[in-house]
Amino acid sequence: MNIGIAGAGALGRLLTYLLTRQGHCVSVFDPAEGPQGRGAAGWTAAGMLTPTAELECADMGVFNYGVRSLDLWSQIIPALPGQVSFSRGGSLLLAHRHDSGAAQRTVSLLAQKAPQAYKPVGLPLSELAQLEPDIHGPAMAWMLPHEGLLNSVETMQGLYEGAAGARWHWGQRITRIESGLLASDSEAWEFDHVFDVRGLGQRLPDAPDLGNEISCRNVRGVRGEIFWLHAPGVRLGRPVRLLHPRHRVYVVPRRGDIIVVGASEIESEDRSPVSLRSAVELLAAAHSMMPALSEARIVHSETNLRPALVDNLPRIEQEPGLTRINGLFRHGWLIAPAIAEQALAQAFTTDPQTGATAA
Ligand SMILES: Cc1cc2nc3c(=O)[nH]c(=O)nc-3n(C[C@H](O)[C@H](O)[C@H](O)COP(=O)(O)OP(=O)(O)OC[C@H]3O[C@@H](n4cnc5c(N)ncnc54)[C@H](O)[C@@H]3O)c2cc1C
Repeated sequence: MNIGIAGAGALGRLLTYLLTRQGHCVSVFDPAEGPQGRGAAGWTAAGMLTPTAELECADMGVFNYGVRSLDLWSQIIPALPGQVSFSRGGSLLLAHRHDSGAAQRTVSLLAQKAPQAYKPVGLPLSELAQLEPDIHGPAMAWMLPHEGLLNSVETMQGLYEGAAGARWHWGQRITRIESGLLASDSEAWEFDHVFDVRGLGQRLPDAPDLGNEISCRNVRGVRGEIFWLHAPGVRLGRPVRLLHPRHRVYVVPRRGDIIVVGASEIESEDRSPVSLRSAVELLAAAHSMMPALSEARIVHSETNLRPALVDNLPRIEQEPGLTRINGLFRHGWLIAPAIAEQALAQAFTTDPQTGATAA
């Protein structure tokens, strides 16, 4: 089939990769100047694949998408060209002694919501020291054994390079989408089926107030800020979250002695550089659990907007010839493969009455 995709972010690249592998002819449109253009939230993400930890603010639907996606990523990522880091070594939750009340409440909530095999497991400090020798200071630790991590920058690149034969139209802002049609202000293209995965770009152009309507078009941006630290010699094997009463803080290891520290979550669409307050809070919290970071160099900081719907949940909208997906919010990498799997199955399902495909 001849398929058009508006948006070359996390979801757009994954759909392109999957559809080209199925033999479809895929054209992708994005306002970025080229494949490395950094508008998409997908570039900025830390890449944590943590379904249980996300239950603090998500529902079982997101959890189930996350569990399924971990299996799908473990098939997709090894087949991508280039080096794309992916691990499933679990993640850690840590808390300082003075925050233990709030931390235990969070852990109890996760334990109530998660199925047995996914519940947090208390970790004695002696075992923590063996697993992560550069963590010092926290008084309590829990392992979430089934969680994982991918490198979002490498995955964006790998999905792009792996989508053999796709036609990439950079510098093209799609302003009108209808069944089987994508159009910019100056050109239009026809397809058998189109996918609208523009994230924040799905908002209706004249921005009418849609109130609390849950729709892919009623999307808002939630600001997130992260840091990259260059920390040669500092050992970190898996993603770690500090359960802090005021901030959500995590540290994540990357290739090349990089440790990513994130992330603020602010109800604002301001894309300006990282604020002093976020820098102080995030980096102080990271240092409080990994004192060895004190000599790390801050090599990069980045701000981006997470695309969120009114209920902060993901959404797939289908109509003949058109699929919209949005609302991947703070867990886009966690859930993208399962969302894509479901959307593709729905889009190309044969109608048992008429025998026609939905696309
Ligand atoms: C600081 C931060 C940390 C995060 N950490 C994690 C994490 O650890 N784990 C996790 O799972 N998720 C994380 N996320 C969330 C994740 O990045 C998003 O959920 C995901 O990127 C959403 O994917 P998307 O394809 O819907 O949107 P995006 O990745 O934002 O892509 C949207 C694309 O649409 C394009 N576009 C916009 N307008 C148009 C237009 N008019 N025409 C054509 N194209 C258009 C944009 O240029 C962009 O390329 C994080 C996000 C942030 C900001």
